[in-house]
Amino acid sequence: MKNIAVIGAGTMGNGIAHTFAQFNYNVQLIDVSQTALDRAISIITRNLDRMIAKEKISEKDKKQTLSNITTFTSIKEGVKYASLVIEAASENALLKTNIFKELDEVCPEDTILATNTSSISITQLAAVTKRPDKVIGMHFMNPVPIMKLVEIIKGYNTSDDVMDFTIELTKEINKIPVKVNDYPGFVANRILMPMINESIETLYNDVAGVREIDDIMKLGMAHPMGPLQLADFIGLDVCLSILNVMYDGFKNPKYAPCPLLVNMVAGGKLGIKSGEGFYDYTSSKKSEKVAKMFL
Ligand code: NAD
Repeated sequence: MKNIAVIGAGTMGNGIAHTFAQFNYNVQLIDVSQTALDRAISIITRNLDRMIAKEKISEKDKKQTLSNITTFTSIKEGVKYASLVIEAASENALLKTNIFKELDEVCPEDTILATNTSSISITQLAAVTKRPDKVIGMHFMNPVPIMKLVEIIKGYNTSDDVMDFTIELTKEINKIPVKVNDYPGFVANRILMPMINESIETLYNDVAGVREIDDIMKLGMAHPMGPLQLADFIGLDVCLSILNVMYDGFKNPKYAPCPLLVNMVAGGKLGIKSGEGFYDYTSSKKSEKVAKMFL
């Protein structure tokens, strides 16, 4: 397998493209927006420069990695020769359903179709294709070039061969695959999101302030980052949407998003990406430093 198409050149798509290209796969990076593609290449270049500065790769590796990536604005053109497509477009069920319908029509019939979705059912995406045995979840973590974990999600109809193949491929790019079944939130978000939601609920009930809650989890539980800061980093809109998917999927009130989270998203406080969430990223130096660590 040498040709891997990545759909969506945003935060996750550029990281996935970077990682496969660094391991010498030919990557076709596809986005509806040429601006997003240009931005992705400049982010990958900057991240490779950072790796050179840390003496992790050479100038030659950087050149090779960049030359392994080709960009496209058309799915049909980009996936022509792909053995695997990894869909990392915006988290929207209708959008992803349409992309999977199109992929099924235009990809060679043995192409494996993976999605990096954080919460949408793999089985439902597979159901709009004629190859549900070849549809799988590959849930990378952000930032992709650094984080080791990939949740490998078995849809209801994903074949064992496709599971085994995807697990081996994940190891080839020096990541650690962990197998999970397809239920709302998979494993990472099913455990992480209720913790974030409970932190917001704790703030909402005025038990403690933002910094106090984060300090307790950092200093007491040895978490590298407090849950409220992590929520800012992930994006409060993303947290809300994942909680809603779990709430709808399990019909269990324990996943109901805290009203404070709902209000903050409605009010445009989305975390780092909007400049303000639980912390203000527009003024304080500390917050700027946090923001820079992740952008
Ligand atoms: P993003 O908003 O940064 O990027 C999404 C990209 O998809 C944009 O560049 C957009 O132009 C493009 N796009 C939209 N419609 C398209 C289409 N029809 N064809 C091609 N490209 C299209 O989003 P992101 O944060 O990179 O998230 C992508 C996926 O990864 C989502 O499913 C998300 O749930 C998942 N995910 C995100 C994170 C995270 O921390 N950001 C972590 C794990 C998984």
